[in-house]
Amino acid sequence: MLPGAVVNGQPATLGVMGGGQLGRMFVHAAQSMGYFTAVLDPDTASPAGLVSHHHIQTDYLDEQGLAQLMQRCAAITTEFENVPAPALVTLGAHRPVAPGADAVAIAQDRAAEKAHFVGCGVPVAPHAVIAKPEQLAAVSDELFPCILKTARMGYDGKGQIRVKTREELSAAWDQLKNVPCVLEKMLPLQAECSVIVARGADGQMVNFPVQLNLHREGILAVTSVYEGAVPADLAAQAVAATRAIAEGLHYVGVLCVEFFILEGGQLVVNEMAPRPHNSGHYTLNACDQSQFELQVRTLAGLPLTQPRQHSPAIMLNLLGDLWPESGTPAWDEVLALPGTHLHLYGKLSARPGRKMGHLNITGATPEAVRATALQAAALLGIEAF
Ligand code: ATP
Ligand code: MG
Repeated sequence: MLPGAVVNGQPATLGVMGGGQLGRMFVHAAQSMGYFTAVLDPDTASPAGLVSHHHIQTDYLDEQGLAQLMQRCAAITTEFENVPAPALVTLGAHRPVAPGADAVAIAQDRAAEKAHFVGCGVPVAPHAVIAKPEQLAAVSDELFPCILKTARMGYDGKGQIRVKTREELSAAWDQLKNVPCVLEKMLPLQAECSVIVARGADGQMVNFPVQLNLHREGILAVTSVYEGAVPADLAAQAVAATRAIAEGLHYVGVLCVEFFILEGGQLVVNEMAPRPHNSGHYTLNACDQSQFELQVRTLAGLPLTQPRQHSPAIMLNLLGDLWPESGTPAWDEVLALPGTHLHLYGKLSARPGRKMGHLNITGATPEAVRATALQAAALLGIEAF
């Protein structure tokens, strides 16, 4: 559907399930191309709902809400992976939905996701599925120490417990309420990286460069993207693996795959997100197309061209922890630094761990970007990296 088109007397409208910051940035991208937008999210003050033409404030499985979304929209995407897959099935029966319910359902389940990675020939961490008590006893000694992760609904390190011994394991599973889990061997990480691809319904695929990611307490803290941030051979492997994973899903939309780089230099896939990703926010300022623009293009069936990064970049995540009791962080001092781009998500209350925004830093060279990013981090109270 072409930008600015009129469909049945209505302006061409794109919809998104979920009203968080990713939905907000999708809405911004869609609107800048002339589309109208509709967001479905029960939260009356959701970041995306606040800026969208239409905000349908119902639960994700509410039949009337879904009917309204379909009535308004020519095509529908999603901005968080825990949107119930049945809602996407309902929508998909009547409208193009990208990514499709099948791909989202696989990404929602760590066990299914790992099986897909293995099927694509991409190595995963040694792991065991824990869904029944007898599977606890069958866990091999080789897996310890390990991390028990709920198979579904985990994010930002939530729903995960580190386990050193067999005794700790059953207590940890009880603590996670005995829901189906994946038990993963704790791997010696040298670094983490991710790759974002966009694939159209016609099978055409483009990718962004490999992002080097630093996590703190299970949450992404810093993403660095410039030549040499990730060794070229590993970067090429990560891109090839991500493309194979997207191809294997017949994926339509923007997909992010996260990897571990082990101390020996091997690449192991961690997980995927069927949507734009926090590690791709630098694309808003450092690339000629952002990940959100590519989401719009894949959804609307527009052509895809390989995005080009024009500036080295570092992204600092701005978590609620940085906010003083009253007022805001010292944006005036931060924005006085060259090449700083502030993105705030319109969230009214800052809580520890809450993603309030991000700061992109671009510059002429990686060294200049790093120097500015470290200065900004110091001003904001983010630990040096
Ligand atoms: P998000 O959705 O924010 O990416 P998540 O809750 O899905 O987070 P994971 O990506 O599984 O969580 O894990 C969060 C972080 O914990 C990883 O980025 C990594 O730093 C660490 N971690 C996870 N699994 C392992 C492992 N098997 N070995 C070593 N470290 C790990
Ligand atoms: Mg993760």
